[in-house]
Amino acid sequence: MVRRLVSFSSFGAARLSFVTSVNGLRYVRVHVDCTLSPRRQIALLAHELQHALEIGERTDILDVEDMESLYENIGFESLDNGSHKSFETDAALTVQRTVDDEMGMRPLRTTGTVTY
Ligand SMILES: [Zn+2]
Repeated sequence: MVRRLVSFSSFGAARLSFVTSVNGLRYVRVHVDCTLSPRRQIALLAHELQHALEIGERTDILDVEDMESLYENIGFESLDNGSHKSFETDAALTVQRTVDDEMGMRPLRTTGTVTY
């Protein structure tokens, strides 16, 4: 599901949050600031999907505490304001940078005859 939010919180341009775990399925929510350029949104979405993959690979992550534990092990703390902690991973930063680079190298769309 994609929802467009008018305002965005102070947590940054994008984030992933754990929603719930039901019958062995884990649900996460990805927020991306839709006011950013499409290229930036795509790179940030790739970044957050890497985090979803990190969680998906670990079937023992069943709640927010498990997720925090995972990121304490595989990542590093990027924010701790007393009420909220954020973590980051090198893998997510690498994926974001790779996608951003690939988007920059994408050839300009040309107009011309299209045949089917
Ligand atoms: Zn991240």
